[in-house]
Amino acid sequence: MTLTNIAPTAELQALDAAHHMHPFTANGALGQKGARIIVRAEGVRLTDSEGAELIDGMAGLWCVNIGYGRHELAEVAARQMRELPYYNTFFQTSHVPALQLAARLAELAPGDLNHVFFAGSGSEANDTNLRMVRHYWALKGQPQRHIVIARKNGYHGSTMGGGSLGGMAAMHAQGGLPIPGIVHIDQPYWWGEGGDMTPEAFGLARARALEEKILELGAENVAAFIAEPVQGAGGVIIPPESYWPEIQRIVDKYGILLIADEVITGFGRTGHWFACEGYGIRPHIITIAKGLSSGYQPIGGSIVCDEVARTIAQDEFNHGYTYSGHPVAAAVALENLRIMDEEGIIDRVRHETAPYLAQAWGSLADHPLVGEAVSRGLMASLALTPDKASRARFASEPGTVGYICREYSFGNNLVMRHVGDRMIIAPPLVITPADIDELVARARKTLDQTWAHLQREGMLKAAA
Ligand SMILES: *Cc1c(COP(=O)(O)O)cnc(C)c1O
Repeated sequence: MTLTNIAPTAELQALDAAHHMHPFTANGALGQKGARIIVRAEGVRLTDSEGAELIDGMAGLWCVNIGYGRHELAEVAARQMRELPYYNTFFQTSHVPALQLAARLAELAPGDLNHVFFAGSGSEANDTNLRMVRHYWALKGQPQRHIVIARKNGYHGSTMGGGSLGGMAAMHAQGGLPIPGIVHIDQPYWWGEGGDMTPEAFGLARARALEEKILELGAENVAAFIAEPVQGAGGVIIPPESYWPEIQRIVDKYGILLIADEVITGFGRTGHWFACEGYGIRPHIITIAKGLSSGYQPIGGSIVCDEVARTIAQDEFNHGYTYSGHPVAAAVALENLRIMDEEGIIDRVRHETAPYLAQAWGSLADHPLVGEAVSRGLMASLALTPDKASRARFASEPGTVGYICREYSFGNNLVMRHVGDRMIIAPPLVITPADIDELVARARKTLDQTWAHLQREGMLKAAA
């Protein structure tokens, strides 16, 4: 048995620092400070090794959609492990959890997205997508159609393919990314980049950047466009309403495949099974992971339309993962989807908690440090600014103020993340209005402390 608190916190932290390399972390600095060690969780709350209780404003990493502590998922996992802990789906075999989950996803997904290729994560699924869309065009007799257009500050995972499709400058700076054949256009981030334009006009302009890029590259060379309906890791950036209809017009006009990366936005996050439904987007492929299993098991995949699946089926697709459709992960995902459906969790988000959060979170816009306070479904963000009127950035290195704010938030037992100088949340979908009130109260206290800190240190200065 793995015990959760086998030793005093300081001993656990020392072991962690000595042997555990954390993802997306300056491990030297963390080793000095000591990681906060989480030992238990229930509903929307985490307990650390000192017994403190935190509101998990991030649902783990945007994934624990049904909340912590659902024993049904543990029971299903145990039963599946006893019956068939593993089998592969490579060599003309299948198993019930994988085929049932694929059928269920085909039911839930919009349009003719009726086929599922499984992966172990969102990154792996996007690697699949990259190979699949290029192979699709090769089978169509257009092998030169290999370029994939993506967006700056998009996030599509951390593998070579996923990290390349993503447009994170800090990631591209390490390890030789992006790989060839992937180009990035500007993001629809009005608050940060919209200048004097209205959000409406800016949304159209940023969508038309796709058309300009297609024309520059030659439509006959472009395989696909990939994007998140709402950027998550980029800072919960909600595009202007004009953006997606124009993108749809452009991909239709040039016959380009559209990949909607719904790893975060899928499975209820925006009050729909898929955000595509809310935005009226018609993708050829949807990337899924995270909320698919509510994070209880690692699983991801690509939901693929009839035309692409039919074409790929003509030939052997030389691609797959040992754990594609892993039976335990698939069984847990199915149980997760059953609970979401039967308990009406997504309807509650759409009709109750998303409107409630929009109000409560939106009220933070009156804080002197907050440039915008926005949400879509149960994902939300704040832009921190030294000057609301001019939407100014801080003079300090981007992320300095965000990090200070995050530290106060952690101190207030609220998990709120920073992306640069934006603060973001995406709580479990089972959060109640009372919990939202508590979350927003802690966020406001955090903003007050951050404001006082910046004033004390003379840091409320705008960049030139
Ligand atoms: C998290 C994320 C991924 C990567 O998923 P992993 O399971 O971490 O590999 C891909 N796309 C989006 C939009 C994500 O948020």
